[in-house]
Amino acid sequence: MEYSTFFVKSYGCQMNIYDSEKIISILENRGLKKNQDVESADLVIFNTCNIRDKAAHKLYSDIGRVNKYKKERTIAVVGCVAQAENEEMFSKNKSIDIILGPQSYHLLPQMIDDIKKNPKQLNTEFIVNEKFDYLIEQKRKQGVSSYLTIQEGCDKFCSFCVVPYTRGPEYSRPLSSLLNEVNSLTDNGAKEIVLLGQNVNAYNIFHNGRKINIADLIEEISKNENVKRIRYTTSHPINMSDNLIELHSTNDKLMPFIHLPVQSGSTNILNKMNRKYDVSYYRKIIDKLKIVNPKIEISSDFIIGYPGETEEDFQKTLKLVDDIKFTQSYSFIYSARPGTKSALQDDKTPLNVKKERLLILQDKLKNIQLEFNETFCGKNIEVLVENQSMSNPEFFFGRTPFMQSVYIKSSEINPGELKNVNISTCNHKNLYASC
Ligand code: SF4
Repeated sequence: MEYSTFFVKSYGCQMNIYDSEKIISILENRGLKKNQDVESADLVIFNTCNIRDKAAHKLYSDIGRVNKYKKERTIAVVGCVAQAENEEMFSKNKSIDIILGPQSYHLLPQMIDDIKKNPKQLNTEFIVNEKFDYLIEQKRKQGVSSYLTIQEGCDKFCSFCVVPYTRGPEYSRPLSSLLNEVNSLTDNGAKEIVLLGQNVNAYNIFHNGRKINIADLIEEISKNENVKRIRYTTSHPINMSDNLIELHSTNDKLMPFIHLPVQSGSTNILNKMNRKYDVSYYRKIIDKLKIVNPKIEISSDFIIGYPGETEEDFQKTLKLVDDIKFTQSYSFIYSARPGTKSALQDDKTPLNVKKERLLILQDKLKNIQLEFNETFCGKNIEVLVENQSMSNPEFFFGRTPFMQSVYIKSSEINPGELKNVNISTCNHKNLYASC
């Protein structure tokens, strides 16, 4: 069949959203047009995430829904579920035509061509450096806040996680390639660069005989005068080096907000999870950050109901939340992922107990977030304006240094501007302002 339109749906994390942007640019460079709706697209791409159990379930129900619209079309499943389930997916759902792992997106155009010869296309090889060499050539405007993947993969092997199996070992991109991409992003209007990686702060390369880590990379990116803000996510506590911590006091472009997942406030559970740190180590990292920059705010991920989590373990998590006062967080009930160590562990805690614990935790996190947002009411704060509302052009959307979403009513601002705005009201999710 001939392809003229495509549709992409992303599941999961920012890494996947970034990868979807790259897939879009590959296909647009090939002359295909991106559809906003799935109904009439010739090619439908599901960019999958395997972190949560629900994402894989949702994928199969989405494929079922898509099949109702149009029979004559190609369905490609790419990303981590594709990597994990591999060719087994062809037998689980006959309408899947292409299965492509996260390290091989650049091969998608070739696979679309090859489908005429072989109707089932599969590639789940780990060829990560080849992918980045190819993708850097695919220029696409991302926006005021643009993602830059600097690192992929993971060597940590947390007991509950599939990433080391689906994304492969840690790989850091060369410095020159990253700086070129930053120039390209700022040429296209980017003011904020968000460095991405499964273990972003494990970034590590040799450049001109010198060891370069994420702190050195941030310093290099800061030299670009069009870059106004820099963030990095997702960090692992054991890779929070002293020079990265120190940089939060010396580099004004580095934002005072860090996503540093702790997962649990109990050392007993952290050991079971193979997280490689204990609670006192995590607390020390936060103390060091607050010493170099008292303004720093922290967000985290929490897994509730991990196999063996007792009421005492859960209370320790609540205590940590009370002490650190995480200003944004993600929390989930543990779900076993096939192929991981924790999937083999006995899980005796009833689901209703886990649900109850999650509600208690989320309620606490929500209150802390609300209290934090309320401290900004009636005050001025600098916001990077990211875009204008399509439905209501009087409103603009931006973010504070602490990643809070701000809706601004104004006729005098433009996307890309750093603007001081006056916060009038808030809820736990958003701030509202005028200027
Ligand atoms: S550090 Fe742990 S949770 Fe994060 S990607 Fe690696 S294995 Fe997964």
